[in-house]
Amino acid sequence: MTIFEAAEFADHEEVAFLRDRESGLFAIVAIHDSTLGPAVGGCRMWPYASEACAVHDVLRLSLGMSLKNAMAGLPLGGGKSVILGDPRREKTPELLRAFGRAVHGLDGRYIAAEDVGIGVDDVAVMAEETPHVAGRPGGDAASGDPSPFTAYGVFVGIRTAVARQLGRPSLEGVLVAVQGLGRVGMALCGFLHGAGARLVVADLDPLAAEDAVARFGAKVSTPEKILEQEADVVAPCALGAVLDDASIPKLAATIVAGAANNQLALPRHGAALRDRGVLYAPDYVINAGGIINVAGEVAGRYDRGRTLARIECIEDRLDEIFGEAEERGEPTNEVADRMATRRLEAARARRQR
Ligand code: NAD
Repeated sequence: MTIFEAAEFADHEEVAFLRDRESGLFAIVAIHDSTLGPAVGGCRMWPYASEACAVHDVLRLSLGMSLKNAMAGLPLGGGKSVILGDPRREKTPELLRAFGRAVHGLDGRYIAAEDVGIGVDDVAVMAEETPHVAGRPGGDAASGDPSPFTAYGVFVGIRTAVARQLGRPSLEGVLVAVQGLGRVGMALCGFLHGAGARLVVADLDPLAAEDAVARFGAKVSTPEKILEQEADVVAPCALGAVLDDASIPKLAATIVAGAANNQLALPRHGAALRDRGVLYAPDYVINAGGIINVAGEVAGRYDRGRTLARIECIEDRLDEIFGEAEERGEPTNEVADRMATRRLEAARARRQR
């Protein structure tokens, strides 16, 4: 199948393949939709098994950013980028600067920020070559690492889902299984622990799990078993596509609410969750805290208080989705996609007038 025929390519405005011989850079930037503003989304560095996997990932992620930004009410379009390579071995300042120069060549149509494998220090290196990055550690209107803000939004979302599904007004004593203890997962554990929740955690890195035990009294599971825990909530905070035909029948929790992008392997897995009585918080709605934080920097007016207030609106958005899904008997992911698409189409219609 060619890229143009790929289902994920639909509606993409631009896909750029970037190469820099000296630094060894291979990267892809996907701009899905710029109706609402310049395309903004993280840059992921990952050792993809093949180029086809990287293309598939970046296209799905950029579409997700259009829906996420529209749903969060931000004046931003959807885009995403991937650098092909292992961040632990192949990430060099030269490579990051080459990526910055390539992004600069896109003239502001795409603005890069942090994602898996790319942290706030890496964004600072890219910023040496282009102003078209956000989530910078310092400088005018800099918003810093978006991860704690993503974690705060997920925490707000878990509270919302627990109130609706379990009828519990607080997280005191609620057991949450957290998959992935990276920048978002660990910060989420901090918020949950602070609210009196109990934790069971897993990470590929045993040191991260030990850290969660020491700091939050978490119990440790294995990466293989974390989604099957007898918990109230499962919070996927590692990589995407973890909810599929194999994992969904084994879920014991009745709530799935976490930070990872593209948690459903396929859209139909939203219906599979509904059929099992699991309340799923659509990923791009609950994990919008980071992009809401970045949006202030892109606008050139970063205000932490206003950002936190906007992140707390994730509660209203999820409540609306959960309410409509219950009323119509629809899966929550379908309700969210319809709402976000409607917002994008309304903006397109306004632009054409
Ligand atoms: P990260 O790279 O800092 O952390 C990911 C963690 O998951 C790592 O510690 C890794 O060891 C662990 N992991 C990987 N596979 C695992 C498995 N099978 N089982 C258990 N642990 C596993 O990434 P992050 O920034 O914390 O992001 C986590 C997820 O949230 C990603 O899917 C990312 O796209 C999404 N997200 C992040 C942000 C943000 O602000 N950082 C915003 C929106 C969405």
